[in-house]
Amino acid sequence: MRQNLSNHDPTPEGGSGLFGSLLLFIVLLFFIGAVLNQDERHTAVASANPPTTESNVLATLLPTPTIADTATPTNTPTPTQTPTPTNTPTITPTSTPSITPNPAWTATPSPTASPLPTPVDGISTTVAIPVLMYHYISVPPEDADEYRIDLSVTPANFRTQMQYLADNGFTPIDFYTLSRAITNHELLPPQPIILTFDDGYLDNYEIAFPILQEFGFVGTFFIPTEFIDKNRVGYMSWPMIETMAAAGHRFEPHSRTHPDLRNRDEAYLIWEILGPQETLAAHIGYTPRYFSYPSGRYDDAVLEMLQRLDFWGAVTTAGGDQLGFENRYTWPRLRIRYDTPLGEFADVVYLRWDE
Ligand SMILES: [Zn+2]
Repeated sequence: MRQNLSNHDPTPEGGSGLFGSLLLFIVLLFFIGAVLNQDERHTAVASANPPTTESNVLATLLPTPTIADTATPTNTPTPTQTPTPTNTPTITPTSTPSITPNPAWTATPSPTASPLPTPVDGISTTVAIPVLMYHYISVPPEDADEYRIDLSVTPANFRTQMQYLADNGFTPIDFYTLSRAITNHELLPPQPIILTFDDGYLDNYEIAFPILQEFGFVGTFFIPTEFIDKNRVGYMSWPMIETMAAAGHRFEPHSRTHPDLRNRDEAYLIWEILGPQETLAAHIGYTPRYFSYPSGRYDDAVLEMLQRLDFWGAVTTAGGDQLGFENRYTWPRLRIRYDTPLGEFADVVYLRWDE
């Protein structure tokens, strides 16, 4: 019986032993499967919701397509459309009599914010300096309308005009040098003149830039930054602007999209004035301090915004040559036209101009 049992037992026992082993094996498989599964889920979760920058970077590096798919939406940086008010420098009016030369005024760009320079001893100087206004430096296309033609100066004429300035001892300066002269009474070079170019056209890089370099002249270029951001045909690119800035030329904002800035609300003006100032700063390495009104249009709200954002000056399209601290946000300019003959150009630069 015992033997029977023992004989009999081994069979079921042997069967149950085999069954047990199989069960153990299956359980083991399940366990391994579960562990692997958990690992996978853990990785997927980690990359889908990256807690740190490292795991964010890791997620982009991981080759698994599922992980890349889940990580994609969080990895695409979307620029916020609202400029943060923390970037607005606060203006603290100072009556400090002596002002040390500001590092931002030198040719070496300074990343630090600089306050509006105020007149030494409360006395500012008004100077009579021609600020020339150029747009296109190219031959207008055959189908150009009268406005396009009027905004153009041919490369040959531009070169002749620059040659005239060089031959007659003029010294092109930038607006930073002008501000120092007006507020700090620093001496200006002989026969100072300011050369401005509005709108950021491609020919400013292709034609004007090499001619200015040839004469060692500094130019000030007012840029509607969104045209550059969107690679608009016929406009300069950021690498071109960076190249010219590195050569010493000045780049200042001309709004973001070149709209009529009158009768706008605060948020709109911040978007159109602070926005391009910061965009340019990111490309040229320092905060630009001068503004050119699109089509010369502005109202009191625009003037207040420029002061609030610590701009040091702004140019209009109105004719004139008086540049002082009091009228720093409405500095006039002298337009050089397509049909401006050299004799008339000479009258303009010697301030023998009339409206
Ligand atoms: Zn313009």
